[in-house]
Amino acid sequence: MIDLPANTIHGLVALANSIQEICGYVLDDGSFIVMPNISDAPMDSYEVNPESQGWILPMVWERVVAMFHTHPRGICWPSDEDMRNWPPAASEGGARYFIVTAREVREFRLDEDGKPKPVG
Ligand SMILES: [Zn+2]
Repeated sequence: MIDLPANTIHGLVALANSIQEICGYVLDDGSFIVMPNISDAPMDSYEVNPESQGWILPMVWERVVAMFHTHPRGICWPSDEDMRNWPPAASEGGARYFIVTAREVREFRLDEDGKPKPVG
């Protein structure tokens, strides 16, 4: 079980019921920020709008504990595209990396071989 407040888990899981992938950040008080997904194929992928990121992140960066995105129909495991676009901030251990489905929130890290590994 992931170490997040129950309200945070319920809120994130509810987002995964959207038909499109939703992405954003979890803050240190358990709240979360949804960022605009500007992917050309938002049903199966996400891309955070860099403009929004540019003005929102500086305001909250010190409070960001995790980045998340949903897999509305997918499994709770990083996709090939997720692996190609693994955020540097998560690789360096700065922020946790969550994948959310309509059933659960799971955290992943890359192991020494660069393979995804569920945490907890
Ligand atoms: Zn994904």
